Amino acid sequence: MRLSNIQIHRKLILLVIIMVCGTLVTASLAYRFTQDDILNSRKSQIQSVVQAGRSQIMALHQHLQQNSITQAQFDRQLQELINATRFSGSEYLYLYNIQGVNIAHPIQKQLTGTNQMDMRDDDGIYITRKMIEGIKENGSVFWEFRWPKPEGGLAVPKLGYAERIPGTELIIGSGLYLDDLKPLVRARAYTYLGITLTVLIAALLFAYRIASNIAHPVTRLAGQMNTLTEGNPDLEVLDTERRDEIGDMARAMQCFRDHVVENQRLRTMQDQVRFLETFDPVTRLYNRQALGEAINKEIARHDRDCQLAVVVLRLDLLHEITIEMGRERSDQVLIKTAARIHDELHSDDVLARLSEDTLGILLSNVTSREALETLSRNLLDILAQPVQLEEQRLQVAGRAGISIFPDDGGYDFQLIGRAENTVNQAKKQERDLLFYDAVAHNEPNHSIELWQEMQKALDEDQFYLVFQPLFDLENNNPVAAEVLLRWEHPEKGFISPAQFIPVAEQSGLISRLDAWVLEAVAKQVRNWLDRQLTPPRIAVNLSGISFLRPDFLDTLTDIFGRHQVSLDHLDLELTEGVLIDDLELISDQLRNIRATGVSISIDDFGTGYSSLSRIKNLAIDNIKIDRSFIDELDTCPQDRKIVEAIILMAQGLNLSVIAEGVETQEQLAELRRVGCDTVQGFFLSRPLKVEPFEELLEQDLVIEID
Ligand code: C2E
Ligand code: CA
Ligand code: CA
Repeated sequence: MRLSNIQIHRKLILLVIIMVCGTLVTASLAYRFTQDDILNSRKSQIQSVVQAGRSQIMALHQHLQQNSITQAQFDRQLQELINATRFSGSEYLYLYNIQGVNIAHPIQKQLTGTNQMDMRDDDGIYITRKMIEGIKENGSVFWEFRWPKPEGGLAVPKLGYAERIPGTELIIGSGLYLDDLKPLVRARAYTYLGITLTVLIAALLFAYRIASNIAHPVTRLAGQMNTLTEGNPDLEVLDTERRDEIGDMARAMQCFRDHVVENQRLRTMQDQVRFLETFDPVTRLYNRQALGEAINKEIARHDRDCQLAVVVLRLDLLHEITIEMGRERSDQVLIKTAARIHDELHSDDVLARLSEDTLGILLSNVTSREALETLSRNLLDILAQPVQLEEQRLQVAGRAGISIFPDDGGYDFQLIGRAENTVNQAKKQERDLLFYDAVAHNEPNHSIELWQEMQKALDEDQFYLVFQPLFDLENNNPVAAEVLLRWEHPEKGFISPAQFIPVAEQSGLISRLDAWVLEAVAKQVRNWLDRQLTPPRIAVNLSGISFLRPDFLDTLTDIFGRHQVSLDHLDLELTEGVLIDDLELISDQLRNIRATGVSISIDDFGTGYSSLSRIKNLAIDNIKIDRSFIDELDTCPQDRKIVEAIILMAQGLNLSVIAEGVETQEQLAELRRVGCDTVQGFFLSRPLKVEPFEELLEQDLVIEID
């Protein structure tokens, strides 16, 4: 098994085991060496005692030889000397001669004078004989035998030492009782045990600390990495404060997590853009673009040998419901009606929303004109059935216009456009159902034409900007200007943005158009700055499709960066429609954009789907109350209440309120009374071309009030 395949905490456990074993081996070796040391030092101790005795006896013997003492005196002094030599508690000296006769013994006095050559201990060892043999061989001897202690009792192991006294027949010996060493050894053993245990505990504690300091964070990081690679970035990366390699890893991991989050955010945004490019956000039905694609796909698949039909249904009373009861109600009616129609269709058929009150259907299983007519009438019947909304029953009526492939058109836009024209015709003729080929055609398809001409207009610079100032009601000064796009068509003259912007949104051209406006604004502001004019904040209308593009922020900073204009000059007006979907995604995008200095306004507030409670956590600055509420502000008490409520709530959320479409003195007075912050409208100033707007900037214009 390779070390790199073992988990870190196992490695640490292995290390601890090695340390424990090492400590134990060291301790037991130390114990053994100590035992030997103690024995050796005791051995040399008795050796030196014996040698001291030997020197004394040699001196005595010299006296005997020089006749300064008698043999009897010598013998007596020998006895006295031996009797007196007791040391270390139980040790003593004794004397033998080389024939094995005991000469003196301080303890076992009865031995004196007897030959002990045959004396044996409990184990059968010839004690004296072994001694004498050893001495004859080496002059001195260490040997082991069993011998009772001076205080009596059973014989115990003893280590004897003896040597010949030179010049005499005498042998002097001593010995040590081996069990006398035990307490000493035991004391040492306890010391070693204590040290070993302390080292072990310290090692274990240290290993534990290392484990929690290294192994645990590493394991956690590894687990988090797995979670991240599974695409789940909802985790908190710890240890990023550490200054060691784990800290480096944690910081790298955090970067990685941020990447994953950012990637997911971009992906969700792309999905969102794809959604907006394919679906109608209210009914979640396909939009015009998607219906067109479905038609083209069907056309390619059917290879022109089968009939397809496009039925356009217009809900006649829906617009009236919007006006009378609000957008939300009419949306609900549309959603319910669309669901019923959907239930009637074949699974291959495609249902789409083409405009506010128009549905388009691709029928791909058309067997005959009669069947098509029956089905369409059936759909009109379903459409006319009342819709129950809480306590209210609402009823809409509809008309149908039908175009058939390949007779009425070969492309999606022809089939849809012609069916739409047919339904318009049906309305004019007050018919509920018409086939395209049953009417005279002179109306071209405006959308397609517009779309093609818009591209040309972009290339040929037919667009320009006008500026409508916004006035601060506190000091009556212009504080900002809304930029509005104008299109001067070389033949058709002025075309309203209300007409071409929706077409641009449906056709995918809107991002180019919005980018064009931003570029033109940046250029214009640069021009003013170069000429020492102080431009107010410039508000640009931005389509939700552009706003939700993942690359929008880059585009924005790139454009303003190129002209060296700070984004503080820019305000972006977004409609509520942008805010209906993924709030989290939108709030991220808003926060990122706002961080560049751009301010954000919610345009047409009150007409769409959002409420103040929905936008309260979003990074926005202003709300623009829709013109429809201002229109009858001075005459309709209900509108006045709504406006008052919006202003109150906006103040609570620290948002500034702009009222647009102020057309009369009375409306202005009313807005001032209810505490509106900023106003805009024809009464104050129409949208102005650059030159008159510059004059206004130079004039320090102030609005006249009351
Ligand atoms: P909006 O953003 O609500 O713009 C305000 C519209 O109200 C403008 O119409 C403006 O001329 C008009 N208006 C201003 N004051 C008054 C007033 O006192 N009374 C009345 N009746 N109308 C007033 P316009 O220029 O026709 O623009 C229509 C819409 O087209 C705008 O509505 C906006 O949604 C869109 N739009 C205009 N320019 C652009 C643009 O550059 N980019 C994008 N994406 N959309 C734009
Ligand atoms: Ca606007
Ligand atoms: Ca508006």
